[in-house]
Amino acid sequence: MKYIVCENPNHFSIREGKEPDFTPGNAVLRVKQVGICGTDLHAFKGNQPFFSYPRILGHELATEILEIGQNNIGLSKGDKVVIMPYINCQDCVSCRAGKSNCCQKLNVFGVHVDGGMQEVISLPDRLLIPANELSHDEITIVEPLAIGAHALRRAGTKKGDNVVVMGCGPIGIGIIQLAKYIGATVIAIDINDYRLDLVSKKFNIDLAINALQSPVEKIKEFTGGNLAQTVFDATGSKQAIEGGINYMSHGGSFVLVGLFKGELAFQHPIIHAKETTIICSRNATREDFDFVIKVLREGNFNTGAYITKHVPFEKILSDFDTWASPDSKEVKVVAVL
Ligand SMILES: [Zn+2]
Ligand SMILES: [Zn+2]
Repeated sequence: MKYIVCENPNHFSIREGKEPDFTPGNAVLRVKQVGICGTDLHAFKGNQPFFSYPRILGHELATEILEIGQNNIGLSKGDKVVIMPYINCQDCVSCRAGKSNCCQKLNVFGVHVDGGMQEVISLPDRLLIPANELSHDEITIVEPLAIGAHALRRAGTKKGDNVVVMGCGPIGIGIIQLAKYIGATVIAIDINDYRLDLVSKKFNIDLAINALQSPVEKIKEFTGGNLAQTVFDATGSKQAIEGGINYMSHGGSFVLVGLFKGELAFQHPIIHAKETTIICSRNATREDFDFVIKVLREGNFNTGAYITKHVPFEKILSDFDTWASPDSKEVKVVAVL
């Protein structure tokens, strides 16, 4: 079987290898599609912390079962499955508390261990979710959307809330569209007018604001002076995060979904006066995957506008770094095996 490996930063190669053997408790899966994610790009560029090479990337996968043993989730050979790429230990304090998404010993498939840029993979049965009713495109985007679903669940966003989403990349768009599904009023903020136009036209947001054009005043005006009950950051930018606190109402929540790799500074009197709840949101759990699968099954997500490009698997070797750069017009590129 073929696989593509990131040998060291800025260098992929394609190789031929042996297919994984079947072992009880694990399923052998054929990879049909791989979604390309910001994490993959950072790893390729060499700016992903705690990363070791060589590494097979890819964690947003559409797969089909080639071989599976006795299981109690009703899966059999030929079934389409969503994979949860978070290989948790099942034993640490967070796993035992039901927070498998932030397991102390978490290995993300395609990040900390070799992932899905291969024709055939093997994963524990417990990380598979049946998805025969979804298309391969829908299956491919369940994981990035589940990140947004988790953030919304952490925030307790409900119908009628005003929410601000900073950053209209793949994660931000997921939060936007799922917040709309829940019934929230959504204000999207970005510095890229192309992205703002895209979310206005294809993901029916309520208001789009360029972060450089007095966002606080515009949000105040739109919300009758109240500002937003919840602000989600999906940029990972220090400037956006530190400024975004000013979009939040008194008694509101500030949810960090993007990751800035350094120190953040807030004026304590400002966050104290608002009795700010600061929430970090990492990965996703089974509940979030199930919610996204439900939304997709109901046809309530614009998959066609989210996946902007399909490419043959080998294009990863030549075109990879052009897809997820900040000035790219792509939302989600999907490699087809
Ligand atoms: Zn991802
Ligand atoms: Zn654990």
